[in-house]
Amino acid sequence: MGPDDIISSLRIGARMGRVLAERIPLHCICGVREKERHGRTVLFADIAVDYDIIQCLADDKIENAVDYSALASTAMAFTERTQFYLLEKLADSLVSHLLASFPRALSLGLRLQKNPAGWGNTSFSCSLSGRRSLAILGLGSNLGDRGRALEEATERLAAIRHCRLLRSSSLHRTAPLLRTDQPEFFNEALLIETLLSPMELLAEMQSIERAMGRLRGERYGPRPIDIDLLLFEGFVSSSAALTVPHPGLRLRRFWIEELADLGLILPPASGAILRQRCEQIRKCKNFTKE
Ligand code: ADP
Ligand code: MG
Repeated sequence: MGPDDIISSLRIGARMGRVLAERIPLHCICGVREKERHGRTVLFADIAVDYDIIQCLADDKIENAVDYSALASTAMAFTERTQFYLLEKLADSLVSHLLASFPRALSLGLRLQKNPAGWGNTSFSCSLSGRRSLAILGLGSNLGDRGRALEEATERLAAIRHCRLLRSSSLHRTAPLLRTDQPEFFNEALLIETLLSPMELLAEMQSIERAMGRLRGERYGPRPIDIDLLLFEGFVSSSAALTVPHPGLRLRRFWIEELADLGLILPPASGAILRQRCEQIRKCKNFTKE
């Protein structure tokens, strides 16, 4: 766990295990050549699933394990009812379907292999993996019915495909930070689990902001809803489109308190980060006076 992957500490106590199912025959229509479009061919799948085995070790029950025969039959049933041109596309859809069907799976690796007619013993394969990640979202509202806006945003976030709401923090009322000439904020943080990539999740968050009347206008100005990505498991980025961990994370007291509600204690900010933040606040205050 790196210093910026603090969110992984929520998984402490896990004992990771792996089940591996090999050479599962999948009967499907997949391929770009004319003869591959007319009938089912057989592909072979190797599937590896990583999950926390602590519970199945404790009670020795299949309900708390990832059942590898169910894994194989789910993959077989899925490929029988779908058709694709590309092996990559089939592999990606199958990874998503299996992760969605086996909520205990934290990550899943898949290798699909085909032996096309006319190639003798030569085989081709495609490998893909996917994972279930924890993420923390910070919600804020300071326009209209602020309590209702947080509730609605939470409902909409919980309904995103491939996202599951795990915990919510208590609600915090906070004075506006950078531009003080605006109403008080209602803030809340959510812990979710998602199969989406960080950019896919950001796009979903922004589409909820738009659906709830957020106009991209003045930065730090009043808004009916603001949804920020504070942390994403195993992911660090400093691009303008997505900076994670969120640069304000260790500097806003309400976020520190909301994260503590979710079970996450952040280490204190370094002096350099604090100096940078003071400078930002100073510039912003000058801007408000002008
Ligand atoms: P703010 O939340 O700082 O008031 P906005 O909500 O208007 O600002 O977001 C401005 C831009 O910040 C977005 O277009 C988005 O691409 C970018 N951004 C960068 N990092 C993040 C993050 N961690 N969470 C949300 N948006 C981010
Ligand atoms: Mg924002």
